Amino acid sequence: MLERLAPASPDALLALIKLHAADNRADKIDLGVGVYRTGQGDTPVFGAIKAAEERLVETQASKSYLGPEGDMGFVEALMPYVFGADDPSMGGRIQGMQAPGGTGAVRLAVALAKAAGVSKVHLGVPSWPNHAQILADLPLEMAPFDHDCDDGTANIEAVLGAIRGAGEGEAVVLHGCCHNPTGIDYTPEQWREIAEALSDSPILPIIDLAYQGLGYGMEEDAFGLRTVLAAVPEALVAYSCDKNFGLYRDRVGALYVMAREAGDLPAIMSNAAALARANWSMPPDHGAAAVRLVLDDPALTAQWLDELDTMRARMRQVRERLAAAGQVGTLDLTPLGSQNGLFSMLRLDKEQVARLRSDHAIYMAASGRINVAGLTQGNIDKFIAALGDVAK
Ligand code: PMP
Repeated sequence: MLERLAPASPDALLALIKLHAADNRADKIDLGVGVYRTGQGDTPVFGAIKAAEERLVETQASKSYLGPEGDMGFVEALMPYVFGADDPSMGGRIQGMQAPGGTGAVRLAVALAKAAGVSKVHLGVPSWPNHAQILADLPLEMAPFDHDCDDGTANIEAVLGAIRGAGEGEAVVLHGCCHNPTGIDYTPEQWREIAEALSDSPILPIIDLAYQGLGYGMEEDAFGLRTVLAAVPEALVAYSCDKNFGLYRDRVGALYVMAREAGDLPAIMSNAAALARANWSMPPDHGAAAVRLVLDDPALTAQWLDELDTMRARMRQVRERLAAAGQVGTLDLTPLGSQNGLFSMLRLDKEQVARLRSDHAIYMAASGRINVAGLTQGNIDKFIAALGDVAK
């Protein structure tokens, strides 16, 4: 029976990793993989996480099961950063549970929305490819709208149109910050318009916050989410700690639910727990426990925020350098300076992307998405020159 399965299409980025690994050219550049890199090209474990892991090894007395909600100390310690220190549970209306990474949190959010009666999900495209894959797998109907305009800014009319035109039983997925793959975020003013439109619509907002702290700062990057939550009666938030704590393979995330009334939460969370149980039973513990130890210790928290600042400053520097190059052949790199996070899209066709690989040993997704953290003082000039060569 199993032999009936046709091969699934391979993950394009994983294929790119293999191609890059097999390339012997010393000056090769990898802009494909979606992880942060230092100026030396490494993706190190955060010092604050290393210290917390050491403490964890010394103090952890048991690895017995925790339950589908995972480490609630972790889930709650994160809330002031996400929802604001003043009233992180919004009067008891927000509760969360741990999930296996942001991916698990997105999966749980849309599955919970479906269980509550959502049948159609609006999504700005392009988006992180797994959004569409998860919706297709559930299945849930996906209604795409344009995320961005040709000039490298967000298409506010498209998102407002989707929200205003939506009826009961519909949801919209919004990237909280550092949009993947475009790097194009809504401005504060645009978030206010989105929040107002949401407040007038029956649509359920699902906010995916996978890069908090990688754009302008922990507080700044929560602005859109908090503006929306202040305006709507209910929402779901899928959170990832895999980038802002550098925990990628440890799979650290959380789902938060903001309910109309605090009294609605026990039933909602019991459904979320049941879905988690049927999917993965319970989330992996180690990374979340390390994050909890960081957030429970002021010195480790300060160290983590410092490390995050260094990451963000480096990405800003790379972006400023790219933007300063301005027009390079047919490409205008200026908008990259005001885009956020790890990713931006270059308007290159597949053939140009292939030529960057064959002629210049530069590896990027076929869509033209680049990870700006793959660029360093040592390779950025070569990269800009290569763009000039292929984008004539
Ligand atoms: N949402 C978005 C927009 C992402 O880009 C990613 C990761 N690339 C995720 C969610 C999932 O992150 P994680 O690795 O924590 O599953």
